Amino acid sequence: MVLEQATHYEAVIGLEVHVELNTNTKMFCSCAIDFGGEPNTRTCPVCLGQPGSLPVVNGKAVEAAIRLGLALGCDITPVSQFHRKNYFYPDMPKNYQISQYDVPICLGGALTVTTGEGDHRVGITRVHMEEDTGKSLHVGTSGRIHGAEYSLVDYNRAGIPLLEIVSEPDIRTAAQAQAYLAELRAIVLALGISDARLEEGSMRCDANVSLRPVGHTVFGTRAEVKNMNSIRSLGRAIEYEIARQTDLLTHGHRVVQETRHWDEDAGRTSTLRTKETTEDYRYFPDPDLVPVAPDAGWIEKLRAALPELPAAKRRRLVDDVGVGREQAATLVAIGLDGVLEDAVGAGAAAGEAANWLTNEVVAWGNEQDLEPSAAPLTGARLAELLALVSDGTLSKKLARQVLTGVLAGEGSPREVTKARGLEQISDSDAIAAAVDAAIVADPAAAQKVRDGNDKAIGALVGAVMRETRGQANPGLVNQLLRERLLSS
Ligand SMILES: [Zn+2]
Repeated sequence: MVLEQATHYEAVIGLEVHVELNTNTKMFCSCAIDFGGEPNTRTCPVCLGQPGSLPVVNGKAVEAAIRLGLALGCDITPVSQFHRKNYFYPDMPKNYQISQYDVPICLGGALTVTTGEGDHRVGITRVHMEEDTGKSLHVGTSGRIHGAEYSLVDYNRAGIPLLEIVSEPDIRTAAQAQAYLAELRAIVLALGISDARLEEGSMRCDANVSLRPVGHTVFGTRAEVKNMNSIRSLGRAIEYEIARQTDLLTHGHRVVQETRHWDEDAGRTSTLRTKETTEDYRYFPDPDLVPVAPDAGWIEKLRAALPELPAAKRRRLVDDVGVGREQAATLVAIGLDGVLEDAVGAGAAAGEAANWLTNEVVAWGNEQDLEPSAAPLTGARLAELLALVSDGTLSKKLARQVLTGVLAGEGSPREVTKARGLEQISDSDAIAAAVDAAIVADPAAAQKVRDGNDKAIGALVGAVMRETRGQANPGLVNQLLRERLLSS
């Protein structure tokens, strides 16, 4: 199908996301899943594909697949099947991967994503179970297979359970793709079935990108882009690919169906291999594995036990707790919604507490290179900190210093305030000397204030704050300065 040249194209994007499950053992054998082990120590005849070994399905992995399917609104297939996907690759000892083909465990479903342009529904085609491959290590300066001196293979990863979530080609922009991946990741985290780290490969995303003239319904030729290891790089790779294909089509060239590699540093995609078609894999049912037929009662039990999902959590934060929409989205995305709710439960104002979490705690995470949710801060302590601000013990500025101490493990806000000597000085006698000294030291500013230039008072307030190491109550300093300069 060759599309005519057009002036306006729209992107048609579908995502294939792989999630590595955090089960104790592999998909079809009892080898432990643990990271950082010596290469090839977590292997057995099954995951090494030795003749005569027989795979047995990991029930916990099936449970995770069903729970994810239910969370995405999929139908759970009454009887699904494992197929062999045949291809050769050195990190795959059996020369086939056990996967699912025409009867996957979950079918249909949808995810609603929110971008600056509003809500957008993305259909989920399927969720299927499969096993991971091993890892090749290409030794040489490039780190890639081209130019490597030799390659090593580690089979520790071979056989780790994966879920593949395939979306419908309903995504039209890079922003929607990013929102989809972020929402899917939030759901996986809420279910607790994977640590879903894109940077470390426990969540991976491939994007199928094609273009078609606006208004057409037929799909153009697609390229599959791989190797994006963050939500940011997914957006960059899609933007690049849309620009590349637009350029080809507007100049009368064709898009080749192929797999392309995203190079994060160069900011571009390049040909990896010509895309295989499904037929190339010679799928056939794995004769070693019985069909998966989950009991209907079990499925209903899993459905009833699903945790609150991110979308529902956001709605509740907005409607019941009183947090703004954007802050609710941020809090859920960074996993601090629980701290917020605890803080509100302990008496904190929702908006204030949300501000501290989305500003100060996020900044702390950036500084420490940690997830904000790793902050050692309970809701009760955040509420205590806010109470110290509202009763005048701490200014906001001092409260920030106290929070730093709390996050450094120095104790509760009250303890840190005391230990660091950070109480705000709200006693006029204690501040009076500093106020008088500031007026004497800057007679020009003092005169301006007397002459009615209200802004000039800032310099004097600043001097007092410096003198008291930021501990004077700024409102009181202002008041004392005015009394001295204006009432005489
Ligand atoms: Zn094994």
